[in-house]
Amino acid sequence: MTTQPPASHFVNGAYVEDTSGIPLPVIYPATGKVIANLFEATPAIMEQALSSAKDAQKEWAARSGTERGRVLRRAADIIRERNRELSVLETYDTGKPLSETLYVDATSGADALEYFGGLAGSLTGEHIPLGQDWVYTVREALGLCVGIGAWNYPTQIACWKAAPALACGNAMVFKPSETTPLCALKVAEILHEAGLPAGLYNVIQGTGAVGAPLVADPRVNKVSLTGSVPTGRKIYANAAKDMKHVTMELGGKSPLLIFDDADIEKAVGGAILGNFYSSGQVCSNGTRVFVQEGIKDEFLKRLSERLSLATIGDPQDEATNFGPMVSQAQMEIVQRYIQIGQEEGATLVCGGKRLDRDGFYLEPTVFADVTDNMTIAKEEIFGPVMSVLTFKTEGEAIARANATEFGLSAGVFTRDLTRGHRVIGQMEAGSCFINSYNDAPVEAPFGGMKASGVGRENSKEAIHHYSQVKSVYVRMGDVEAPF
Ligand code: NDP
Repeated sequence: MTTQPPASHFVNGAYVEDTSGIPLPVIYPATGKVIANLFEATPAIMEQALSSAKDAQKEWAARSGTERGRVLRRAADIIRERNRELSVLETYDTGKPLSETLYVDATSGADALEYFGGLAGSLTGEHIPLGQDWVYTVREALGLCVGIGAWNYPTQIACWKAAPALACGNAMVFKPSETTPLCALKVAEILHEAGLPAGLYNVIQGTGAVGAPLVADPRVNKVSLTGSVPTGRKIYANAAKDMKHVTMELGGKSPLLIFDDADIEKAVGGAILGNFYSSGQVCSNGTRVFVQEGIKDEFLKRLSERLSLATIGDPQDEATNFGPMVSQAQMEIVQRYIQIGQEEGATLVCGGKRLDRDGFYLEPTVFADVTDNMTIAKEEIFGPVMSVLTFKTEGEAIARANATEFGLSAGVFTRDLTRGHRVIGQMEAGSCFINSYNDAPVEAPFGGMKASGVGRENSKEAIHHYSQVKSVYVRMGDVEAPF
């Protein structure tokens, strides 16, 4: 397959190029080799994207929801038909193994388009009777939305933002991460093939230097970011100047609590899923694994045994289930954290090294005897590094789990049903799991509390973040003015 797209940007219904932009080489993480050459959006490309989106939005919002939804559902069908081709591309873009991308990337994007396509016809207001008068409410589009994506799930992030935005009658300009710019172009291409009018979904490339002026543009009504907390703070502040709506899907350092009555095999499975899927590059990962003292040794033994079964290798080979880091830069960040973990006295149980091969491969790494004040227990690493901490009592585990600025996810493994709900009820986190980890069906709200975010993606909740309510008071009788 060719990984070089026809052009760098998709604007006003077509691929467009401007070679005067800064070159953006795209690197395949499994080899370190360049697989495509793109150019950063110039001010002229940004202007085309913003003005075509602004021009197209009103007519789109005026259509019935059913009509809008039909386009999204058609796009979902096309994505499913082309799942393999899109998954191969996702693997080139991110380095994530095909054994993952075939099941969770394009498919979850299709789920979002199908789900919001189905909801679009049911977006209604309310009738509020007030004696002979009444109020009715209308759910209106926000207008022009800017989406900015992280590099770990480029297809999914593009779809999770496009689907609710378009279902509600908005237009979008989307800027993928410069590290993974290929997949969102395919999403734009497919949406237009499915019948989306030109201008409603534009993809333009670039770094934060392109993202920042998009956020600041006065024509933009809403900004949805998937990214880190520091970037979230900058974009939130930038958007606040014009009082723009925001959705912030940010990072985490989520706790996974494993009690001594848990099914150990299931708990180990949950900890593996919550730390090593996508080589650990998942925002909601449960990277602080709190294990109750009595089962620590058994947990670590089974964890090490099962990690030794990971098949690390060529991500395009479906037998591989653990791939490289997304980039040299991200690999070096993670290597630094591994070094800090050792320097601060954590016990390296397994992994810790870079593999002696091309590409950005790190071993799945587990630290034990981690304490709350160690750097690796406090900061988001965003790589395959699990920190195992121990605890004695339920109250202690809850207090320590919540002692962080983040609040994206939390999980608990226990056979005690009441404890499971009691513990999760006290977790300061937006997306929680009982005897599971990292499930993200489109029907469930997804997003963080505290510094991990504002707003929610997916589910009916997302509708509230891509629309606004107008209330209309209707008086039937006389207007009684005081003079
Ligand atoms: P970054 O925060 O570095 O970047 C996110 C996006 O913002 C990129 O497209 C980036 O461009 C862009 N950007 C950077 N600075 C600005 C700015 N000043 N104005 C506008 N745009 C800007 O995140 P990463 O790409 O490194 O992704 C990893 C992070 O994303 C982790 O913290 C992870 O937890 C989080 N994440 C959160 C998820 C969630 O749903 N809660 C899901 C997935 C990831 P560029 O990088 O191209 O320069």
